[in-house]
Amino acid sequence: MSAEQLSGGDRMITHVRVNGLRFSYPGQESVLEGVDLEVLGGEKIGLIGPNGSGKTTLFMLLAGVLTPDAGSVDILGSSVTPGRFNPDLGFVFQNPDDQLFCPTVMEDVEFGLLNRGFSAGESRSMAETYLGRTGMLHLSQRPPHDLSGGEKRMVSIAGVMIMEPAVVILDEPESSLDGRSRRMLIEFLKRTDETMMIASHDLEFLLEVCGRTVMLDGGTISADGPSREIMGDRELMEAHGFEKPHSLVPHADPHHQ
Ligand code: ADP
Repeated sequence: MSAEQLSGGDRMITHVRVNGLRFSYPGQESVLEGVDLEVLGGEKIGLIGPNGSGKTTLFMLLAGVLTPDAGSVDILGSSVTPGRFNPDLGFVFQNPDDQLFCPTVMEDVEFGLLNRGFSAGESRSMAETYLGRTGMLHLSQRPPHDLSGGEKRMVSIAGVMIMEPAVVILDEPESSLDGRSRRMLIEFLKRTDETMMIASHDLEFLLEVCGRTVMLDGGTISADGPSREIMGDRELMEAHGFEKPHSLVPHADPHHQ
């Protein structure tokens, strides 16, 4: 969904509803033990939690890659059917190599639109737009496997966003990015109007992009609220193994000592 399509009213619509979600991998202890979550249109949610807390598992359940043991997931009011492609949801995988498979960057980014029946001309022009927005247009004729980790990630994001899904989930999108690519990604994500859930350990990154933070720990949601409030709560953060982000720690001003 583009910025133009997302009217003010859509922001009040529930885009994601998760109810009593439970999941365990076969023969393992349970990962999710009753997750409830509502995400409104246009919200950008930072999903934090220790390693192994189930962030990727929750994303796989939202995408219908895994089947819940109990509970439900609705995207735009329709219940997610495991195994069925959902055009309303875009998933940017943790590893861009899982996403890129065409001979050139351009072909990779336009693939989804061509597959959906858009003309070659329309697909090419949209791919140019999205490669431009992600700063990757100059690489359009390069084979994706030759690119750096950061470039691959930006191309895989362009390939997902071009489909204009209502909800985009991104699993650690900032990992392996250098400073310049990380900044480019932050600015790109801040400018988009899509509903987003972003799992990351980079709290400063999430503070810049996401107004709301949800913390997953012990199989349930242990905190949910404005990012600055959640991450600024030292006791809460330390109780779940996090440090309060540096930018939220008050610093003594050497000129006023
Ligand atoms: P996070 O993304 O928060 O690091 P994950 O969702 O990847 O957490 O993993 C949650 C738990 O499920 C971990 O204990 C992990 O070892 C386990 N797990 C993840 N994938 C599988 C799998 N395919 N089979 C069995 N256990 C898994």
